[in-house]
Amino acid sequence: MLRLSPAALAAPLAVLAACASPSGTSSTATAPSPAAPSSATAGAISAADLRARLYAYADDSMRGREAGTIDNIRSTAWIAEQVKRIGLEPAGDNGTFFQAVPLSRRTPVANTSLTVDGTRYALWTDFGPFDVGGTAPDLDGAAAIFAGRLADTAHLAPPSAGAGRIVVVRASPGMAIFNAYAFVTARYPQAVAVAFGNQDNTVKQLEPYFSAGSVRLVGDDEPTGRRPALLMLGTRLTTALLGGAVDATAPGTVGRTVHGKVGFAETPAPARNVVAILRGTDPSLRGQYVALGAHSDHIGVRRDAQDQDSLRAYNQALHRLGAADPFTAIDPAKRATIRVNVDSLHHIRPAVMDSINNGADDDGSGSIGLIEIAEAWKNAHGADRPRRSVIFVWHTAEELGLFGSEYFTDHPTIPRDSIVAQINIDMIGRGSASDIVGGGPRYVELIGPRRLSTEYARLIEQVNAAEPVPFNIDYSFDADGHPENIYCRSDHANYARYGIPVAFFSTGQHSDYHQVSDEPQFIDYDHYASVVRLVYDVARAVANRDARLIVDKPKPDPKAECRQ
Ligand SMILES: [Zn+2]
Repeated sequence: MLRLSPAALAAPLAVLAACASPSGTSSTATAPSPAAPSSATAGAISAADLRARLYAYADDSMRGREAGTIDNIRSTAWIAEQVKRIGLEPAGDNGTFFQAVPLSRRTPVANTSLTVDGTRYALWTDFGPFDVGGTAPDLDGAAAIFAGRLADTAHLAPPSAGAGRIVVVRASPGMAIFNAYAFVTARYPQAVAVAFGNQDNTVKQLEPYFSAGSVRLVGDDEPTGRRPALLMLGTRLTTALLGGAVDATAPGTVGRTVHGKVGFAETPAPARNVVAILRGTDPSLRGQYVALGAHSDHIGVRRDAQDQDSLRAYNQALHRLGAADPFTAIDPAKRATIRVNVDSLHHIRPAVMDSINNGADDDGSGSIGLIEIAEAWKNAHGADRPRRSVIFVWHTAEELGLFGSEYFTDHPTIPRDSIVAQINIDMIGRGSASDIVGGGPRYVELIGPRRLSTEYARLIEQVNAAEPVPFNIDYSFDADGHPENIYCRSDHANYARYGIPVAFFSTGQHSDYHQVSDEPQFIDYDHYASVVRLVYDVARAVANRDARLIVDKPKPDPKAECRQ
């Protein structure tokens, strides 16, 4: 699942969120269970098969499956190999299982430096340029001006003072970088750069995010034209530019001239969807498709390793304070009460240091769930075979902005209007009472179907009621305007924008969400298997009904922003 706000851009200025720190008194760690299984898979959907495949797919060798890196090629090759063996038809580009998705990566040009009064200042030590899209104006020869403190907007330098200059400001602690940037550029639109002074920690801590660059979908809507550059300055460069300590400088003071360039280079980034078809049996219906989707990618490798036990204990403590996941805003005073001590655990075994985001739940669970469904359906006989055709899409670059599903729905490899409904599964392997409020063995979230098709929503209810033990379906995350915005945070949203009825199944957020601790040993395989069976049953019901589902709600504008 996509993060509610982009990782680094939402980072607060000056004070960055603290990580788990092993200190204090309480002890709450969970030992990982041993032994990855390996065995041949069977035809029917089973917890054992899901487990065997998920351990392979969420293995460290997949390196976090980040789109735009070679790791996305490796993981999608693995999926294609599985579906080829199962016997699905390729439905990507040129008779292959792959649809290339044109991504492009923008990275700050290395070896960049800035010079003030003959002294050189180094990238990622003295300053960090953050990509804001569009074209950054040339900094070379521009003078700095101190505009003031964002905590004291009544005494900022007048807007005209920023024209053609590097506008240096003092940020308010805790203000998100992009909010601060938006505020300053609105006041000084003609600035060549907006620079936050004395941000030594931010420069250092955000280097891993920003030096890796940002990835975009080529041809996608994005900010274009001239935008002031965004710079974080260390104290040394801030003082040099202003000709004195920032805190002793009056708003409106013009500083020194900078020489040098801050540029971004663009290179293609590898990414591809895996697309496969199971052909329907009914000649009059097989030209229609039920689309099943999950996302193959995850968020890759961290630069720094974390102690899994400490991290889990800390995030579980956050969860007990009411955080749905580790990114939920929690009162800093409450956060400060968390004490984690894993010493006793580490007497038994050493710390597990980890830097790979394996994404077992997100979305290893959905990706493997689709493979299990494909295998079960392919092995079915007679009336259990689908009347309509089924198209399986493992979308790439979901975590980067739902790019794979955006590209597939803009450039579908089958006629778009032949897709009668879509089902998306993302994070379906957790959902216990300790993972989510209201959780338990029959917990599942459902988002979306009623938004376009009353009939679809009703059909899913009927299928669930006929399950051996029906699920307690949680519709709360589908509420209009829900602040978690889940409806817009996974791939189904790109189908819905074209008026295709969608159903998004998930077992929801938890304390390992987007952490190195999202590991296969923390999946509940029986619960997971039962969700996959429910999804299979819903897909079969849609594929085998006589009439196509009726869309009785207004279709959205496909180019409009998604709204929960
Ligand atoms: Zn995710």
